[in-house]
Amino acid sequence: MEIYDVIIIGAGAAGCFAAVCLSEGAPHLKIRILEKTRQPLAKVKISGGGRCNVTHHCFDPSKLIENYPRGKDFLRNAFSRFQPQDMIDWLSRHGVEVKVEKDGRMFPTTNRSQTIIDCFLSLLQKRNVPLSLECEVVSLVKIGDQFHLELKSGEKIQSKQVLIATGGLQKSYALAEGLGHFIEPAIASLFTFSLQEEWVRDHSGFSVPSAKVSLQGFPLEIQGPILITHWGVSGPAVLKLSAFAARWLFAQDYQAKLFVNWTGLAEAEVQEALFLTRKQLSSKKLEITPLFSFSKNFWKAFLAQISPSLPNLTWAQVSKQEIHKLTALLTRTSFTMIGKSLNKDEFVTSGGVSLQEVDPKTLQSKKVPGLYFAGEVLNIDGVTGGFNFQSAWTTAFLTAQSMHLFSRTSSV
Ligand SMILES: Cc1cc2nc3c(=O)[nH]c(=O)nc-3n(C[C@H](O)[C@H](O)[C@H](O)COP(=O)(O)OP(=O)(O)OC[C@H]3O[C@@H](n4cnc5c(N)ncnc54)[C@H](O)[C@@H]3O)c2cc1C
Repeated sequence: MEIYDVIIIGAGAAGCFAAVCLSEGAPHLKIRILEKTRQPLAKVKISGGGRCNVTHHCFDPSKLIENYPRGKDFLRNAFSRFQPQDMIDWLSRHGVEVKVEKDGRMFPTTNRSQTIIDCFLSLLQKRNVPLSLECEVVSLVKIGDQFHLELKSGEKIQSKQVLIATGGLQKSYALAEGLGHFIEPAIASLFTFSLQEEWVRDHSGFSVPSAKVSLQGFPLEIQGPILITHWGVSGPAVLKLSAFAARWLFAQDYQAKLFVNWTGLAEAEVQEALFLTRKQLSSKKLEITPLFSFSKNFWKAFLAQISPSLPNLTWAQVSKQEIHKLTALLTRTSFTMIGKSLNKDEFVTSGGVSLQEVDPKTLQSKKVPGLYFAGEVLNIDGVTGGFNFQSAWTTAFLTAQSMHLFSRTSSV
């Protein structure tokens, strides 16, 4: 039976990066990665629409943690030791340059996720770290100070240390659960909202750069871009709201009231703008004078929600009461959420290994010495924009450091 210093379960972002870092810092260790599918780094490949939104342009750990609905406190210390700038530097040292986009998302300058994959896999190959594909770990136990693993093929392996980096699906938690860890059940995060109202769905493709969205009964309002889709509403602000309200919405069975402030402004400001427009454009018809960067079509449909005749009135004909109604609708349109839909560009699950049972400095299990967790298997998830990969890189990097240290102290 083969005996290893370190076994890494899962060749995703976290598992591969941990292996690369460990083989760099501790080349003498006997490491092996076990991956159940045929394709390592499969999610990296499809991430960010094939471009891999590798991290986010946010270098202040106290601001960075605000992007994690779950795991914020746990990551505070971790980000003070390995944060986006460290990842950018690491990638640059290994030949991968990244660029930032207007919204802070960062991508390889090649615009290809394959660049990241090639970087990791070539380093693993150069350092002779075996990556075994189609090797599902079906059993993991600790006997004495050795971990005993069994693969689906029947192969048996022993290791002094094990990293579980099996990702965020419910079935990925089984190995951790088997070793006595408490698991928060997996629940979808980063999804779009399906809406009942047909009039809005008819305007698929229409977007607003700075709307405010909130849910009745949930104490949070998010400001940012939204996008109308043919099933409802999407865009960064909606995805962020879905992440923070993930557990709450799950408990509501994804049935809720959504409020949209299309202007992003306070009611008084909107009302003032409308009265001013009435004065300045008095002879113009409402339907040809869209406000707040609305498209003409959307504006017309929007006005018709107040009364079918409103679009045909001139601003001078609009009553004070109608201005009040328009203000209310612009700042608080109510929609009926009837379900959720997958966001194709990025999705994650909330849930995973309870953070109470993992040391945030070492990523080592508090229950089973020598056992580590990195990536989405932990109960950590971020909003969209590169934050999910960043938590995978950070937890993987720190795991590699701890494993290196553990191997030195245990061999003394
Ligand atoms: C479509 C999509 C796009 C995304 N885009 C982005 C993005 O642009 N930016 C961003 O920050 N995040 C993005 N994400 C989220 C990001 O991909 C994940 O947060 C990240 O991949 C988590 O990495 P991980 O290594 O923890 O898990 P995974 O990448 O899921 O890897 C886990 C690996 O473990 C393997 N495994 C599981 N169980 C076993 C077992 N028993 N034995 C052996 N192997 C096992 C799995 O097959 C898998 O390969 C996206 C997600 C999706 C789905």
